[in-house]
Amino acid sequence: MVKRLITRFRRLPWWGKGLVAVIGLAGAAGGGFAALTLYSQSQSNSTPYIDRWFDDPDSQPELATIRREPCPDAPFLLPSDGLIGLLWNDSAAPYNMLHRHTGIDIFGIGTPGTAPIYAAYDGYLTRESDWLATVIIRHDDPLHPGETIWTYYTHMADREGQQSFVMDDFPTGTRDLWVEQGTLLGYQGEYSGNSLFPVGLHLHFSIVKSDPDGSYKNESRSGNTLDPSPYLGMSLNIKTRPERPIGCTLPD
Ligand SMILES: [Zn+2]
Repeated sequence: MVKRLITRFRRLPWWGKGLVAVIGLAGAAGGGFAALTLYSQSQSNSTPYIDRWFDDPDSQPELATIRREPCPDAPFLLPSDGLIGLLWNDSAAPYNMLHRHTGIDIFGIGTPGTAPIYAAYDGYLTRESDWLATVIIRHDDPLHPGETIWTYYTHMADREGQQSFVMDDFPTGTRDLWVEQGTLLGYQGEYSGNSLFPVGLHLHFSIVKSDPDGSYKNESRSGNTLDPSPYLGMSLNIKTRPERPIGCTLPD
């Protein structure tokens, strides 16, 4: 049987051999991707909570973390209320083990433009000239005095990208404007950066490392972000697989 297949393969014209190789490679890549997806999902407990949040709105009050003050002994304020769905370093869809989530996603209760977002800590706010839905704040790192870190807030626009939900106090092009912890920055939206693929209503919040040149590092790479758990006094690293809602407790 195998011998016959080999003989058949040898008799194929060059393009036929190429086609067989391409189909084989695509099959291997598809199988590898499926295995990666399955394994990535098994390393997280976030998806069932997020599915429940959107499929069964009655469950939202019992899944939501609602806190308008920092947790005891934690420097940062949770910047919005809602289900803390995807966590830091999460590999749940649409992420995976090779491309992990860089922050936390807080899914708010309400409609786009109504769930408020507050500054997590005192600092200097910047909104780049092409940022419709995003602001970033520079801070002295309260856990490592003398070092600089940044907090990043995004998805603050409607799904089509027509209307920004960032407060008018922070127009595009704002640089180094002092804001205090708890300052209203804007409201949760569904804009992903691409109007064809909106996201479910939420705030994406992350803590970004500083570049040696004084600017912030590329937020989309998880190696450039910090575990927010000690800053917020909550279990926000997916390796701890906390149940939702997440409260003010850190893993031992
Ligand atoms: Zn996110």
